[in-house]
Amino acid sequence: MAIVLKSPQEIESMRRAGRVLAELLQVLKKELNAGMKTRDLDRITARELKRLGAKPSFLGYRGFPAHLCVSVNEEIVHGIPGERVIREGDIVSLDVGAIVGGFQGDAAITVGVGRVSPEAGELMSAAEGALKAGIAAARKGNRIGDMSSAIQRYAEAKGFSVVREYTGHGIGREMHEDPQIPNFGTHGEGMELVEGMTMALEPMVNQGTWRTRVAENHWTVVTADGKLSAHFEHTIAITNGEPDILTVL
Ligand code: MG
Repeated sequence: MAIVLKSPQEIESMRRAGRVLAELLQVLKKELNAGMKTRDLDRITARELKRLGAKPSFLGYRGFPAHLCVSVNEEIVHGIPGERVIREGDIVSLDVGAIVGGFQGDAAITVGVGRVSPEAGELMSAAEGALKAGIAAARKGNRIGDMSSAIQRYAEAKGFSVVREYTGHGIGREMHEDPQIPNFGTHGEGMELVEGMTMALEPMVNQGTWRTRVAENHWTVVTADGKLSAHFEHTIAITNGEPDILTVL
């Protein structure tokens, strides 16, 4: 496994991509409304990436046909924007990557549309909390398993499950670099974290089973039991001290 460590200058380049994503996700969150089609979010993303001087990471990646992934309710990740109409009470995961100056950022949020059920609200806050718990463990000298187990323990303590087949990942000039960061694991195990590692942490948290299946379009990953899923992601850097979250304003 080859880990590409980043210089402080390279991390600043990644932060430019990260800021674009933070701003874009704010716009998408504001414009997300019942009655719109998931395709409308792709159009907004294309427009905003252009306005902010960034290139889309996802468009054309292994043939992916859109600028972002939109995954509604039982859809976990890799949803293709299209004709699906968003309804009041849906939870919508928005996952998007951007390239600025040759460096990548990757971020995701899950947003409730209008009034959502208490269970859906708890699921979203568990997924966001799991991401925060993972980031809190992203410190020099810790191990990958410390982040993974922090994510898993947080989500499971709230009564939810974590997806096994899809993971966080290293990121830099490439969207997916080594190492993989699973959303489950054992404290004290795995590779040691060193300064200059940059990675995307992205817990996918399910209401029911952690098991998944891939829809007929060969992209969209859905929960095996049809229950809800939520997804939050930040791109971060390992520093000498506090974890540096790059996908914020
Ligand atoms: Mg990612």
